[in-house]
Amino acid sequence: MNHLQLKHLISIGVTLLGVGLALLGSMTTEVCMWIGIGLMLIGTIIRITMRCPKCNHNLIYRRWSLPKFCPECGHPISDDKSEE
Ligand SMILES: [Zn+2]
Repeated sequence: MNHLQLKHLISIGVTLLGVGLALLGSMTTEVCMWIGIGLMLIGTIIRITMRCPKCNHNLIYRRWSLPKFCPECGHPISDDKSEE
C-alpha cells in the first residue's frame, strides 16, 4: 500500500465517520452533528487533494474508488512498489 492508497482509505473513513456522527447528532445533540459535518468537510478536502504525482490530475473526482492508473497520463497509482 502506498501513501495515496492510505490517504484514500483515511478520507473514506473520516467521511463515513462524519456522516454517522452527523446523523446521530441530528437526533441527539447539535454539537455532535457539527463535529460530524466538520469531519465530512475534512474528508472532502483530503479527497480534493488526492492528485496524480506526475500530472497533478485529480484522481477521485466524482468517484469513490482509487483508479489503478491515472486517467489523464496513465501513471500507475495503486502500484505496491514505491519508487520515490
Ligand atoms: Zn497523471
